[in-house]
Amino acid sequence: MKVSIYGAGRVGVSVAFSLMHRGLIDEIVLIDVDKEKAEGEALDLMHSSAMFKRCDVKAGTHEDIVGSDFVVITAGYSQRPGETRLDLVEGNLKIIKHIAYELKLYARDSIIINVTNPVDVLTYFIWKYTGFDSKKVIGSGTTLDTGRLRVLLSKSCNISPNSIHAYVIGEHGDSEFVPFSLATIGGLRLEDYCKQCKTFSNDSSDFCPNLERIVDEVRHAAYKIIQKKGATNLAIGSVVGSIIESMTKDEKRVWTPSVLYEDVYIGYPAVLSRNGVERILKLNLSEEENILFEKSLNTIKSVIIEMESKKI
Ligand code: NAD
Repeated sequence: MKVSIYGAGRVGVSVAFSLMHRGLIDEIVLIDVDKEKAEGEALDLMHSSAMFKRCDVKAGTHEDIVGSDFVVITAGYSQRPGETRLDLVEGNLKIIKHIAYELKLYARDSIIINVTNPVDVLTYFIWKYTGFDSKKVIGSGTTLDTGRLRVLLSKSCNISPNSIHAYVIGEHGDSEFVPFSLATIGGLRLEDYCKQCKTFSNDSSDFCPNLERIVDEVRHAAYKIIQKKGATNLAIGSVVGSIIESMTKDEKRVWTPSVLYEDVYIGYPAVLSRNGVERILKLNLSEEENILFEKSLNTIKSVIIEMESKKI
Protein backbone atom coordinates (compact mmCIF):
# COMPACT_ATOMS: atom_id res chain seq x y z
CA MET A 1 0.00 0.00 0.00
CA LYS A 2 1.16 3.51 -0.80
CA VAL A 3 0.38 6.67 1.19
CA SER A 4 1.47 10.18 0.22
CA ILE A 5 1.53 12.93 2.81
CA TYR A 6 1.50 16.65 2.03
CA GLY A 7 3.35 18.49 4.78
CA ALA A 8 6.39 16.94 6.49
CA GLY A 9 5.78 18.96 9.65
CA ARG A 10 4.81 17.73 13.09
CA VAL A 11 1.46 16.24 12.05
CA GLY A 12 2.64 14.79 8.72
CA VAL A 13 5.56 12.97 10.34
CA SER A 14 3.37 11.72 13.21
CA VAL A 15 0.93 10.25 10.66
CA ALA A 16 3.80 8.56 8.80
CA PHE A 17 5.25 7.13 12.04
CA SER A 18 1.86 5.83 13.14
CA LEU A 19 1.34 4.16 9.75
CA MET A 20 4.76 2.48 9.87
CA HIS A 21 4.00 1.01 13.30
CA ARG A 22 0.94 -0.66 11.84
CA GLY A 23 3.04 -2.65 9.35
CA LEU A 24 0.63 -2.09 6.47
CA ILE A 25 2.52 0.31 4.27
CA ASP A 26 4.98 -0.46 1.46
CA GLU A 27 5.67 3.12 0.41
CA ILE A 28 5.34 6.59 1.94
CA VAL A 29 5.98 9.80 0.00
CA LEU A 30 6.45 13.10 1.87
CA ILE A 31 5.86 16.32 -0.08
CA ASP A 32 6.81 19.63 1.48
CA VAL A 33 7.74 23.07 0.13
CA ASP A 34 10.77 22.71 2.41
CA LYS A 35 12.44 19.89 0.46
CA GLU A 36 15.43 19.59 2.80
CA LYS A 37 13.12 19.02 5.75
CA ALA A 38 11.09 16.42 3.84
CA GLU A 39 14.30 14.60 2.88
CA GLY A 40 15.57 14.64 6.46
CA GLU A 41 12.29 13.34 7.86
CA ALA A 42 12.06 10.66 5.14
CA LEU A 43 15.54 9.36 6.00
CA ASP A 44 14.84 9.36 9.73
CA LEU A 45 11.55 7.51 9.21
CA MET A 46 13.07 5.01 6.77
CA HIS A 47 15.79 4.08 9.24
CA SER A 48 13.08 3.16 11.74
CA SER A 49 11.53 0.77 9.22
CA ALA A 50 14.11 -1.88 10.21
CA MET A 51 11.91 -2.35 13.30
CA PHE A 52 8.67 -2.83 11.35
CA LYS A 53 7.53 -4.09 7.96
CA ARG A 54 9.88 -3.11 5.14
CA CYS A 55 8.75 0.28 3.91
CA ASP A 56 10.22 2.70 1.40
CA VAL A 57 10.00 6.30 2.64
CA LYS A 58 11.05 9.13 0.38
CA ALA A 59 10.66 12.85 -0.14
CA GLY A 60 8.96 13.53 -3.44
CA THR A 61 7.22 15.94 -5.76
CA HIS A 62 3.59 16.05 -6.87
CA GLU A 63 4.20 13.53 -9.66
CA ASP A 64 5.37 10.98 -7.08
CA ILE A 65 1.90 10.70 -5.53
CA VAL A 66 0.65 8.73 -8.57
CA GLY A 67 -0.67 5.32 -7.48
CA SER A 68 -1.29 6.35 -3.85
CA ASP A 69 -4.09 4.53 -2.07
CA PHE A 70 -4.39 7.48 0.30
CA VAL A 71 -3.22 11.08 0.14
CA VAL A 72 -3.14 12.79 3.53
CA ILE A 73 -2.99 16.59 3.64
CA THR A 74 -1.27 18.18 6.62
CA ALA A 75 0.40 21.08 4.80
CA GLY A 76 -0.10 24.59 6.06
CA TYR A 77 -0.12 26.90 9.01
CA SER A 78 -1.03 25.70 12.48
CA GLN A 79 -2.58 27.62 15.37
CA ARG A 80 -0.40 29.83 17.50
CA PRO A 81 -1.35 30.36 21.15
CA GLY A 82 -4.66 32.23 21.32
CA GLU A 83 -5.61 31.63 17.65
CA THR A 84 -8.73 29.66 16.69
CA ARG A 85 -8.69 27.16 13.84
CA LEU A 86 -10.91 29.46 11.78
CA ASP A 87 -8.22 32.17 12.01
CA LEU A 88 -6.07 30.00 9.72
CA VAL A 89 -8.54 29.84 6.87
CA GLU A 90 -7.24 32.39 4.36
CA GLY A 91 -3.59 31.35 4.49
CA ASN A 92 -4.34 27.64 4.37
CA LEU A 93 -6.98 27.95 1.66
CA LYS A 94 -4.32 29.28 -0.74
CA ILE A 95 -2.13 26.25 0.02
CA ILE A 96 -5.04 23.83 -0.31
CA LYS A 97 -6.08 25.29 -3.66
CA HIS A 98 -2.62 24.68 -5.04
CA ILE A 99 -2.55 21.10 -3.71
CA ALA A 100 -6.07 20.38 -5.05
CA TYR A 101 -4.85 21.29 -8.54
CA GLU A 102 -2.09 18.66 -8.25
CA LEU A 103 -4.50 16.07 -6.82
CA LYS A 104 -6.64 16.42 -9.92
CA LEU A 105 -3.64 15.59 -12.06
CA TYR A 106 -2.05 12.81 -10.01
CA ALA A 107 -4.48 11.37 -7.46
CA ARG A 108 -7.73 10.70 -9.28
CA ASP A 109 -8.05 7.21 -7.80
CA SER A 110 -6.80 7.97 -4.29
CA ILE A 111 -8.79 8.53 -1.11
CA ILE A 112 -8.04 12.02 0.16
CA ILE A 113 -7.90 12.66 3.92
CA ASN A 114 -7.51 16.29 4.88
CA VAL A 115 -6.17 17.23 8.30
CA THR A 116 -5.16 20.86 7.73
CA ASN A 117 -7.26 23.35 9.70
CA PRO A 118 -9.89 24.62 9.64
CA VAL A 119 -10.51 21.06 8.58
CA ASP A 120 -14.22 21.21 7.66
CA VAL A 121 -13.99 24.35 5.53
CA LEU A 122 -10.82 23.19 3.76
CA THR A 123 -12.12 19.68 3.07
CA TYR A 124 -15.14 21.29 1.43
CA PHE A 125 -12.85 23.31 -0.84
CA ILE A 126 -10.68 20.28 -1.68
CA TRP A 127 -13.84 18.46 -2.74
CA LYS A 128 -15.00 21.50 -4.71
CA TYR A 129 -11.67 22.28 -6.43
CA THR A 130 -10.92 18.65 -7.35
CA GLY A 131 -14.46 17.74 -8.39
CA PHE A 132 -13.81 14.25 -6.90
CA ASP A 133 -16.62 12.06 -5.60
CA SER A 134 -17.44 13.19 -2.03
CA LYS A 135 -17.13 9.54 -0.93
CA LYS A 136 -13.41 9.78 -1.65
CA VAL A 137 -12.75 13.11 0.04
CA ILE A 138 -12.94 13.26 3.83
CA GLY A 139 -11.50 15.36 6.61
CA SER A 140 -10.30 14.16 9.99
CA GLY A 141 -13.36 16.00 11.35
CA THR A 142 -14.08 15.36 15.02
CA THR A 143 -12.33 11.97 15.15
CA LEU A 144 -9.58 13.32 17.40
CA ASP A 145 -12.14 15.10 19.60
CA THR A 146 -14.15 11.87 19.88
CA GLY A 147 -10.97 10.08 20.96
CA ARG A 148 -10.33 12.75 23.58
CA LEU A 149 -13.92 12.47 24.83
CA ARG A 150 -13.66 8.71 25.23
CA VAL A 151 -10.37 8.96 27.08
CA LEU A 152 -11.83 11.46 29.56
CA LEU A 153 -15.03 9.44 30.06
CA SER A 154 -12.91 6.32 30.39
CA LYS A 155 -10.87 7.90 33.19
CA SER A 156 -13.97 9.15 34.93
CA CYS A 157 -15.95 5.88 34.62
CA ASN A 158 -12.92 3.58 34.99
CA ILE A 159 -13.87 1.62 31.87
CA SER A 160 -12.12 1.03 28.53
CA PRO A 161 -12.56 3.80 25.90
CA ASN A 162 -13.44 0.98 23.48
CA SER A 163 -16.59 0.20 25.48
CA ILE A 164 -17.79 3.80 25.38
CA HIS A 165 -19.99 4.77 22.44
CA ALA A 166 -20.08 8.54 22.52
CA TYR A 167 -19.20 11.00 19.79
CA VAL A 168 -18.20 14.61 19.35
CA ILE A 169 -19.93 16.02 16.26
CA GLY A 170 -20.05 19.29 14.35
CA GLU A 171 -17.24 21.67 13.45
CA HIS A 172 -13.74 20.57 14.50
CA GLY A 173 -13.59 23.79 16.49
CA ASP A 174 -15.33 25.87 19.10
CA SER A 175 -18.93 25.02 18.05
CA GLU A 176 -18.47 21.22 18.30
CA PHE A 177 -20.59 19.41 20.90
CA VAL A 178 -21.46 15.98 22.31
CA PRO A 179 -24.96 14.54 21.81
CA PHE A 180 -25.02 12.83 25.19
CA SER A 181 -28.62 11.69 24.68
CA LEU A 182 -27.16 9.06 22.30
CA ALA A 183 -24.12 8.05 24.40
CA THR A 184 -24.06 4.44 25.62
CA ILE A 185 -21.85 2.10 27.63
CA GLY A 186 -22.46 -1.63 27.24
CA GLY A 187 -25.91 -1.02 25.78
CA LEU A 188 -26.96 1.28 28.62
CA ARG A 189 -27.63 4.95 28.06
CA LEU A 190 -24.83 6.89 29.77
CA GLU A 191 -27.33 8.31 32.26
CA ASP A 192 -28.54 4.83 33.23
CA TYR A 193 -25.00 3.47 33.39
CA CYS A 194 -24.14 6.25 35.84
CA LYS A 195 -27.14 5.49 38.02
CA GLN A 196 -25.88 1.92 38.39
CA CYS A 197 -22.40 3.08 39.21
CA LYS A 198 -21.21 2.93 42.81
CA THR A 199 -19.87 6.48 42.70
CA PHE A 200 -23.23 7.90 41.53
CA SER A 201 -24.60 10.62 43.73
CA ASN A 202 -28.20 11.86 43.74
CA ASP A 203 -26.92 15.35 44.24
CA SER A 204 -26.72 16.60 40.62
CA SER A 205 -23.92 19.04 41.49
CA ASP A 206 -21.80 15.99 42.25
CA PHE A 207 -22.81 14.08 39.12
CA CYS A 208 -20.11 11.71 37.98
CA PRO A 209 -18.81 12.04 35.31
CA ASN A 210 -18.99 15.82 35.19
CA LEU A 211 -20.12 16.07 31.56
CA GLU A 212 -19.88 19.83 31.30
CA ARG A 213 -16.29 19.80 32.47
CA ILE A 214 -15.42 16.95 30.10
CA VAL A 215 -16.92 18.71 27.07
CA ASP A 216 -15.09 21.87 28.02
CA GLU A 217 -11.82 19.94 28.32
CA VAL A 218 -12.33 18.30 24.92
CA ARG A 219 -13.18 21.61 23.26
CA HIS A 220 -10.17 23.35 24.75
CA ALA A 221 -7.67 20.47 24.57
CA ALA A 222 -5.83 21.83 21.52
CA TYR A 223 -5.52 25.32 23.05
CA LYS A 224 -4.04 23.84 26.22
CA ILE A 225 -1.55 21.61 24.39
CA ILE A 226 -0.52 24.39 21.99
CA GLN A 227 0.08 26.71 24.94
CA LYS A 228 2.33 24.10 26.55
CA LYS A 229 4.21 22.44 23.64
CA GLY A 230 3.42 24.58 20.58
CA ALA A 231 1.35 22.05 18.60
CA THR A 232 -0.75 18.91 18.78
CA ASN A 233 0.61 16.07 16.69
CA LEU A 234 0.89 12.64 18.34
CA ALA A 235 -2.80 11.95 18.96
CA ILE A 236 -3.88 13.14 15.50
CA GLY A 237 -1.10 10.99 13.99
CA SER A 238 -2.50 7.92 15.78
CA VAL A 239 -6.07 8.76 14.78
CA VAL A 240 -5.26 9.17 11.07
CA GLY A 241 -3.12 6.01 11.13
CA SER A 242 -5.99 4.14 12.73
CA ILE A 243 -8.56 5.45 10.23
CA ILE A 244 -6.37 4.38 7.31
CA GLU A 245 -5.80 0.94 8.86
CA SER A 246 -9.53 0.41 9.41
CA MET A 247 -10.32 1.51 5.85
CA THR A 248 -7.58 -0.65 4.32
CA LYS A 249 -8.84 -3.69 6.23
CA ASP A 250 -12.37 -2.77 5.15
CA GLU A 251 -13.53 -2.94 8.77
CA LYS A 252 -16.47 -0.60 8.08
CA ARG A 253 -15.93 1.20 11.35
CA VAL A 254 -17.97 4.20 12.42
CA TRP A 255 -15.83 7.33 12.72
CA THR A 256 -16.74 11.01 12.88
CA PRO A 257 -14.85 12.25 9.82
CA SER A 258 -15.71 15.49 8.10
CA VAL A 259 -18.17 14.40 5.41
CA LEU A 260 -20.44 16.16 2.95
CA TYR A 261 -23.65 16.79 4.88
CA GLU A 262 -26.27 18.82 3.02
CA ASP A 263 -23.99 21.38 1.35
CA VAL A 264 -21.07 21.62 3.78
CA TYR A 265 -18.42 19.34 5.26
CA ILE A 266 -18.87 18.64 8.98
CA GLY A 267 -17.84 16.05 11.59
CA TYR A 268 -20.60 13.42 11.66
CA PRO A 269 -20.82 9.65 12.25
CA ALA A 270 -20.12 7.74 9.05
CA VAL A 271 -19.10 4.21 8.10
CA LEU A 272 -15.72 4.18 6.35
CA SER A 273 -14.69 1.28 4.12
CA ARG A 274 -11.94 0.50 1.63
CA ASN A 275 -13.86 2.57 -0.92
CA GLY A 276 -14.27 5.68 1.23
CA VAL A 277 -17.51 6.85 2.82
CA GLU A 278 -19.80 3.84 2.79
CA ARG A 279 -22.71 5.46 4.63
CA ILE A 280 -23.49 8.60 6.59
CA LEU A 281 -25.66 7.77 9.60
CA LYS A 282 -28.74 9.76 10.49
CA LEU A 283 -28.74 10.69 14.17
CA ASN A 284 -31.87 11.10 16.18
CA LEU A 285 -30.79 14.22 18.07
CA SER A 286 -32.78 15.83 20.87
CA GLU A 287 -34.32 19.25 20.23
CA GLU A 288 -31.51 21.00 22.09
CA GLU A 289 -28.84 18.99 20.25
CA ASN A 290 -30.46 19.82 16.91
CA ILE A 291 -30.10 23.52 17.71
CA LEU A 292 -26.42 23.03 18.55
CA PHE A 293 -25.88 21.08 15.33
CA GLU A 294 -27.55 23.75 13.20
CA LYS A 295 -25.40 26.39 14.92
CA SER A 296 -22.24 24.46 14.15
CA LEU A 297 -23.35 23.83 10.56
CA ASN A 298 -24.00 27.56 10.12
CA THR A 299 -20.58 28.46 11.56
CA ILE A 300 -18.90 26.40 8.84
CA LYS A 301 -21.32 27.58 6.17
CA SER A 302 -20.70 31.25 6.87
CA VAL A 303 -16.91 30.83 6.56
CA ILE A 304 -17.36 28.95 3.28
CA ILE A 305 -19.59 31.72 1.92
CA GLU A 306 -17.10 34.38 3.04
CA MET A 307 -14.20 32.55 1.36
CA GLU A 308 -16.21 31.99 -1.82
CA SER A 309 -16.92 35.72 -1.99
CA LYS A 310 -13.19 36.47 -1.70
CA LYS A 311 -12.45 34.23 -4.70
CA ILE A 312 -9.15 32.94 -3.28
P1 NAD B 1 3.92 22.34 10.83
O1 NAD B 1 4.20 23.79 10.66
O2 NAD B 1 4.76 21.54 11.75
O3 NAD B 1 3.98 21.62 9.39
C1 NAD B 1 3.33 22.11 8.27
C2 NAD B 1 4.20 21.79 7.08
O4 NAD B 1 3.49 22.16 5.88
C3 NAD B 1 5.52 22.56 7.06
O5 NAD B 1 6.60 21.63 7.02
C4 NAD B 1 5.44 23.40 5.80
O6 NAD B 1 6.69 23.58 5.15
C5 NAD B 1 4.47 22.57 4.95
N1 NAD B 1 3.85 23.27 3.83
C6 NAD B 1 3.38 24.54 3.78
N2 NAD B 1 2.88 24.80 2.55
C7 NAD B 1 3.00 23.66 1.82
C8 NAD B 1 2.64 23.28 0.49
N3 NAD B 1 2.07 24.13 -0.35
N4 NAD B 1 2.93 22.02 0.09
C9 NAD B 1 3.54 21.15 0.93
N5 NAD B 1 3.90 21.46 2.19
C10 NAD B 1 3.63 22.69 2.64
O7 NAD B 1 2.38 22.24 11.23
P2 NAD B 1 1.68 20.98 11.93
O8 NAD B 1 1.75 21.15 13.40
O9 NAD B 1 2.19 19.75 11.29
O10 NAD B 1 0.14 21.23 11.53
C11 NAD B 1 -0.29 21.05 10.19
C12 NAD B 1 -1.79 21.32 10.06
O11 NAD B 1 -2.52 20.32 10.77
C13 NAD B 1 -2.23 22.66 10.68
O12 NAD B 1 -3.19 23.29 9.85
C14 NAD B 1 -2.86 22.25 12.01
O13 NAD B 1 -3.80 23.19 12.48
C15 NAD B 1 -3.52 20.95 11.57
N6 NAD B 1 -3.92 20.04 12.65
C16 NAD B 1 -5.13 19.45 12.51
C17 NAD B 1 -5.59 18.59 13.49
C18 NAD B 1 -6.96 17.96 13.32
O14 NAD B 1 -7.49 17.31 14.23
N7 NAD B 1 -7.60 18.13 12.17
C19 NAD B 1 -4.79 18.31 14.62
C20 NAD B 1 -3.54 18.91 14.71
C21 NAD B 1 -3.11 19.79 13.72
